[in-house]
Amino acid sequence: MNTVEANWKVIKHNIGLACEASGRDPEDVTCIAVTKYVSPERAVEAVEAGITNLGENRVEGALEKHEAVSGRADIHFIGTLQSKKAKKIIGKCAYIHSLDRKSLAEEINKRSGEAVTECFVQVNVSGEESKAGLPPEEVEPFIESLVKLSGLRIVGLMTLAPFEEDAENTRPVFRQMKEMRRRIQEKNWAHAPCGYLSMGMSNDYMVAVEEGATHIRLGTSLVGE
Ligand SMILES: *Cc1c(COP(=O)(O)O)cnc(C)c1O
Repeated sequence: MNTVEANWKVIKHNIGLACEASGRDPEDVTCIAVTKYVSPERAVEAVEAGITNLGENRVEGALEKHEAVSGRADIHFIGTLQSKKAKKIIGKCAYIHSLDRKSLAEEINKRSGEAVTECFVQVNVSGEESKAGLPPEEVEPFIESLVKLSGLRIVGLMTLAPFEEDAENTRPVFRQMKEMRRRIQEKNWAHAPCGYLSMGMSNDYMVAVEEGATHIRLGTSLVGE
C-alpha cells in the first residue's frame, strides 16, 4: 500500500490541474480523506501528511477517528444518519454532509444546545433509488423550512454522482449542483449561506473540481480501501 503522503502528492497535483483548467484557486478546494475503510493509525498518517479533514460514514467510526486524531483534524459525517444517533456526534463532527429530512434537522437543532452545527443538504441529483438525498425540486423548500432552527446552519449542498467508467459523464450532475447552489444563494437566507459544494470522489474528483466543488471526499485513491 502506498503511503498517504505519496497518494496525496499525486492528488494535489491533479487538483492543481483541474483548477488551472477552470480558473480556480486550489486554496478553495478542501480535500476530505474518507477513512471509513481504514484503521485509526492510517487516519493519523493522513493527518501527519497534512490532511486535516477526515470523512466517516458511521457513528462508531466517526467517534473512533475523532478520538484517534485528538483535535488535530475536523471530522465530517458523510453517511446516512439515524436521528436517534445524532446526539452522539454533535460537537464531535465539525460538519454533517447528509442532512436530508426535517426530523433529522429538528434533532440536530435540539441536540446542538447553544452551539450551531454546520450541515450540508444531501441531494440525489440522478434519482437513483439506491442513493440517499432529496430530489432537486425539494431542496429549496426544505432549506426554507429550516429557518427557525437556530442550532444548525446550512453551509452547502452534497451529492454522490452515479459511478461512471468515464468520469466525464458525471459533469452534468455537478453542473446541476452548482446551479442549485446559485439559486439558493440568491435567496440570501441568513440560516443558509450555502457557499459549499461537497462533491467528487476518487473516480470523478477532477471533473467535480472543474465544476466548482469546494469539498472533495476521497477514500480509495488517498488512504486506500
Ligand atoms: C466512501 C465514500 C466516499 C469515498 O469514496 P472513494 O470512491 O473511495 O473515494 C465519498 N463519499 C461518501 C459519501 C462515501 O460514502
